[in-house]
Amino acid sequence: MIIQRVVLNSRPGKNGVPVAENFRLEESTIADTVQAGQVRVKTLYLSVDPYMRCRMNEDTGSDYLQPWQLSEVADGGGIGVVEESKHDNLAKGDFVTSFTWPWQTVAILDGSLLQKLVPQLVNGRLSYFLGAAGITGLTALLGIREKGHVAVGANQTMVVSGAAGACGSLAGQIGRLEGCSRVVGIAGTDEKCSILVQEMGFDAAINYKKGDVAKQLRELCPGGVDVYFDNVGGDISDTVISQMNQNSHIILCGQISQYNKDVPYPPPLPPDIEKIQKERNITRERFLVLNYMDKQEASVLQLCQWIQEGKLKVRETVVEGLANIGAAFQSMMNGGNIGKQIVLVSK
Ligand code: NAP
Repeated sequence: MIIQRVVLNSRPGKNGVPVAENFRLEESTIADTVQAGQVRVKTLYLSVDPYMRCRMNEDTGSDYLQPWQLSEVADGGGIGVVEESKHDNLAKGDFVTSFTWPWQTVAILDGSLLQKLVPQLVNGRLSYFLGAAGITGLTALLGIREKGHVAVGANQTMVVSGAAGACGSLAGQIGRLEGCSRVVGIAGTDEKCSILVQEMGFDAAINYKKGDVAKQLRELCPGGVDVYFDNVGGDISDTVISQMNQNSHIILCGQISQYNKDVPYPPPLPPDIEKIQKERNITRERFLVLNYMDKQEASVLQLCQWIQEGKLKVRETVVEGLANIGAAFQSMMNGGNIGKQIVLVSK
C-alpha cells in the first residue's frame, strides 16, 4: 500500500534554529497484510512539541530520548483510527494513541503499544488527548502536584513562564484550581496576554517582549513569588527567581529558550541567581512527566472532568496536512499561537 510519510531531511545543528526544510515529505509503502498482534491505523492527529528539537540532534543529550535518523520517518504523539485489527483488544473503528506514532498517513503498528481512547471523555474533541487530556495536561497537573507544594488556603502566588503555550496555559489554570490565590503569566504578545487574563482566568499577564519585566513583576506580585512554573529558562527565569520568596518552589518543567543552544539540561543558573536560590532555600528539582506514569489514568480523568465542567479552558491551533508538519514545528519553536499546536493529517 502506498502512503505518505515525513522524514528528517537534515539536522539544524546543535546551536541552529530548526526550519521546515529540516523535514521532507515523501511517498513510501507499507505491507498489504496485517500480522497477528498488529493493527493498521489511519493517522488523524499528530503533535509537535519542543522536546522534538533535541531529537533533531545526533545526540539528544538525554537517555530517555532517541535521536531521529536522517531519511527515516519521524515520530511522536499521535492519534488514529483502527482500520484493520489482528490484536485481541482492538477492533476496527477504535480510536487509539501512542507517544511514538510515525509521521505517516497510514501505519501498521504493534497493538500492544497503543492505548484505546474514549472520545466522550473530551466531548468528542479527540485532539485534546494530545494536549489538555494528554501528556501536556499531565505535565501541568503532575508538575504542580509533585513539585509545586501548592496548598489550598496558603495564599500562594504562582508565576508561569511560556504561559500561553500548551503547558503554560493549563498550568496557570490548574495552579488556581489547586489553590493558588494569584496567578501571573509571562508570554510573548499582547494578544496572548489578553487571552490568558480574559479567557483563562489569569490575574495578570506580562508581555516579556515589551517594557521592564522585573518592574512589572514586582507590581503584579507584591507579596513575592511562591511557586514558579518554569517553561522557558534564561533571562526570564533569572528575573522571576530574583523575586521568589524564602522556601518557595520552582517547577522545572522546561527551558525552551535554551533548546537551540548546546548547553546541558537543566542549564545551570548564573552564579548570582544560584546564590539567591540557595540563600532563600528555593527548590529547583528536575521534573519529568514520564517518571509519574503510574498516576496517568487518575490524572487524565481529573483533567477530563475539569474540561467537561468548563473549569479548564483549552486552546489549540490546528494545522492541516502532513505536508505542513515541518512548518508547524518551526512555528511552534518560534512561539506559535496560544495553546497546543496540532497537525490534522486526516478527517
Ligand atoms: P509550547 O506550546 O511551544 O509553548 C512554549 C511557549 O514558550 C510558547 O508559547 C512561546 O511563546 C514561549 N517561548 C518560546 N520560545 C521562548 C523564548 N525563547 N523565551 C521565552 N518564551 C518562549 O510548548 P509546550 O508543549 O507548552 O512545552 C513547554 C515547555 O514544557 C517546554 O520547555 C517543554 O520542553 C516542556 N515540557 C516538559 C515536560 C516534562 O516532563 N518536564 C513535558 C512536556 C513539555 P511566546 O514566546 O510567544 O510566549
